[in-house]
Amino acid sequence: MSSTTTEYDVIVIGGGPAGENAAAYATAGSDRTAAIVERELVGGECSYWACVPSKALLRPGHVLAAARAMPGVAANGPDVEAVLRRRDAFVHDHDDSAQVDWAKDNRIDVVRGTGSLAGERLVDVDGRRLRARHAVVLATGTIANVPDVPGLRAALPWTSRDVTNLHEIPRRVAVIGGGVVACEAATWLAALGAEVTVLVRGSALLAAAEPFAGERVAAALTAAGARVRFGTEPTAVERQVAKDTGEGWIHGDPVTLRLRGPDGESTLEVDELVVAAGRAPATERLGLAAVGLPGGYVAVDDHLTVRGVDGGWLYAIGDVNHRALLTHMGKYQGRVCGDVIAARAEGKPLDDGRFVASSDHGKVPQVVFTAPEVASVGLTEAAALDAGHAVETVELDIAVAGSALSRDDYAGRAKLVIDRAADTLLGATFVGPDMGEQLHAATIAVVGGVPLTRLWHAVPAFPAVSEFWLRLLEARRA
Ligand SMILES: Cc1cc2nc3c(=O)[nH]c(=O)nc-3n(C[C@H](O)[C@H](O)[C@H](O)COP(=O)(O)OP(=O)(O)OC[C@H]3O[C@@H](n4cnc5c(N)ncnc54)[C@H](O)[C@@H]3O)c2cc1C
Repeated sequence: MSSTTTEYDVIVIGGGPAGENAAAYATAGSDRTAAIVERELVGGECSYWACVPSKALLRPGHVLAAARAMPGVAANGPDVEAVLRRRDAFVHDHDDSAQVDWAKDNRIDVVRGTGSLAGERLVDVDGRRLRARHAVVLATGTIANVPDVPGLRAALPWTSRDVTNLHEIPRRVAVIGGGVVACEAATWLAALGAEVTVLVRGSALLAAAEPFAGERVAAALTAAGARVRFGTEPTAVERQVAKDTGEGWIHGDPVTLRLRGPDGESTLEVDELVVAAGRAPATERLGLAAVGLPGGYVAVDDHLTVRGVDGGWLYAIGDVNHRALLTHMGKYQGRVCGDVIAARAEGKPLDDGRFVASSDHGKVPQVVFTAPEVASVGLTEAAALDAGHAVETVELDIAVAGSALSRDDYAGRAKLVIDRAADTLLGATFVGPDMGEQLHAATIAVVGGVPLTRLWHAVPAFPAVSEFWLRLLEARRA
């Protein structure tokens, strides 16, 4: 350990979207100093191995499908090389200098290395010691979870990092998982020409969403040539020669999976295997024990202060607190956390709503960028009933002039979950092409607690797809 200690007002461990926002907000408009400790790339998982490359890979398939559904428009493709080049441009070929420049412009130091807690307000970074005058923020995110199946780890399967950064398209590929990452990866792999089998342990895709969402995504994947096998899980994996050929390259020989499913035991041979079986907190070498915390996800209160640590100096934001594993929610928490740190440093009370991460509770928006897209905010009907709300629902197919004009094969469905007592929206789910762009209206209605009698006066433009809102409200009046 070096004998010198460098002091900052705020130290953020983890330079992903959540950490960047916390550092910027905690120091904005002040002379407070901040450091971001980052062991890989500033910008985090989202920028290089998750949201950004996955959406770059998905969008061409969506555009191509829309063109194919539009008489008079030429639809060629996909040009796989061009798609991968555009993806590479979006991940800046894994060069984070633009993000480092952003940090410099905001007077935030980037300290390269692995950070770990060494005690109250103390952080060690590969032998260097840092001390925080005000706050330490944990923003270390998550890593892919690889289940304990015999032979699976030794087979060097692809994780989300490989499949978002793929450089060759496996001819035959199996995707283990039925959640967001599995569904999105299966969608772009199929669009790029792979023969895809999705192995789902449960009986539905996107199990946390309204049931019609997973059903429609499964039907669309099947229509795109993928095979979705429910109630099926691998019991063993064999790969004669597994080679670390690098991220996004096929990792050796074909893989044989032994499967247990509704029809008994079977085998499946593929050229690559993608594990999309959930996430694990990146807290293994974070020194949580040095401040008396157990391992795993880090629990926080609504000011994002870590529970179980006195003094209000330790915060956890983004994926690592397990509140909502989404970039926009991590950034939101980063903004709230940064504001809280600034207020506490200036001796101001935390009596304003902006110091409370209230949207983490039942108001989270999410878009699954499959084809069709699944856009949702707030509670599903099942979650609302579980939470004890008396609910009413309205659900219909999206069939308005705007949707028919947008493409000949338009198919979509929308559902509102309404709090009977308050006459406000608890949640909304829209499934269909480009539904992600329709979501923010619902988010505003849910977060704003807008009564449905008032929403009636929010008139959708004709002939836009958003006219389905009018149909929903009409169905509710009927
Ligand atoms: C394939 C995929 C697609 C996704 N698509 C979307 C999407 O479309 N929209 C969306 O909202 N969300 C999406 N997500 C989720 C999103 O990526 C995460 O919610 C988001 O990255 C979390 O941000 P974060 O800042 O908490 O953590 P991260 O982005 O994971 O950043 C954490 C950073 O901390 C660093 N770090 C970890 N430990 C240490 C340490 N001890 N010392 C120093 N540095 C450390 C890491 O290197 C990393 O840079 C996707 C996830 C995946 C896997």
